[in-house]
Amino acid sequence: MTAKPHIHPRKSIGNYWLGKTLGHGSSGCVKLGFHKTTMEKVAIKIISKAYLQTSEILANATKREMAILKLVRHPNVVRYIDAVDDPNVPYVYIIMEYVEGCELFDYLIKCRRINEPEARHIFWQVCVAVDWCHQRNICHRDLKPENILLTTSKQNVKLVDFGMASMQPPTSLLRTSCGSPHYACPEIVTGKSYDGRLADVWSCGVILFALLSGRLPFEDNSVRNLLHRIKSGQYVMSTYFSDDARDLISRMLTTDPKKRIKMDEVLRHRFFAKEDNYQYPQNAFDEVYQTGQEVDQETINVMKVLLRSQTEESIRAALMSER
Ligand code: ADP
Repeated sequence: MTAKPHIHPRKSIGNYWLGKTLGHGSSGCVKLGFHKTTMEKVAIKIISKAYLQTSEILANATKREMAILKLVRHPNVVRYIDAVDDPNVPYVYIIMEYVEGCELFDYLIKCRRINEPEARHIFWQVCVAVDWCHQRNICHRDLKPENILLTTSKQNVKLVDFGMASMQPPTSLLRTSCGSPHYACPEIVTGKSYDGRLADVWSCGVILFALLSGRLPFEDNSVRNLLHRIKSGQYVMSTYFSDDARDLISRMLTTDPKKRIKMDEVLRHRFFAKEDNYQYPQNAFDEVYQTGQEVDQETINVMKVLLRSQTEESIRAALMSER
């Protein structure tokens, strides 16, 4: 008797076949997907509805991640493609651009530390993307090497995981404590209201320190001591750092948020500015939002909820702002 051919039924989600697991995160796993007709590769984030139902905060975070990803169309941020939410299926799927490469975290572990020209190339792209978001009132709030993907081919950077991201109107402050403690700024670890943009600047300062030295500026086996070090800004510069890197890191890891450097100033700092290919991006990547009409009404409605006090006009204005 001949054995029956063993056919594995392939799982599919919307127009995509499901492939291997790309990574695991706090809200579920991310799998590779293939478009059924074009075979275009995508990344599919799978979030269990049962998990979302455990708290309203998680459910809102997922809605916010989708709304914010829809708004952020930048070459250094993973592109949102679609969401699939079938009432008969116990999962929500977020379909995104697939980034072929690795997490900056794994690359850093492999290299132990990264030389300054290469770190500059990577860090510039992170800061350009974060500045673009800040200019549009979006803060990431969970910046760390695990959420920065590097493409295999050109070492291009793509930010992922906007699950903690938030819209922050220019004059207000945020309260929710987000992200990993090693990357969190003093005002977050002390539970104060904070400006999410300046919290992102601090996290980026930790990232630059880690890239250049292969270690974290604030580390301790005891969480209590770790938080104390962060609050008092106790860290030791590495001997590998150039003067420009030292100066930039110390401005980013300034404990008083009022005195901390802002992201647009980071991009103009001499750590970058001494080289011609790192000039502040003037009106770059703005082809998407030119008249304000490109942002669809559904997205604006979600943002009105997120920004509460803001009018539709001011939301559109913030989204369209050149700078
Ligand atoms: P979570 O929000 O659940 O924490 P993340 O968005 O951080 O999940 O994704 C978890 C991991 O999945 C990432 O660290 C990365 O390794 C992988 N991943 C996420 N998005 C993509 C993508 N677009 N392309 C390739 N891999 C991805």
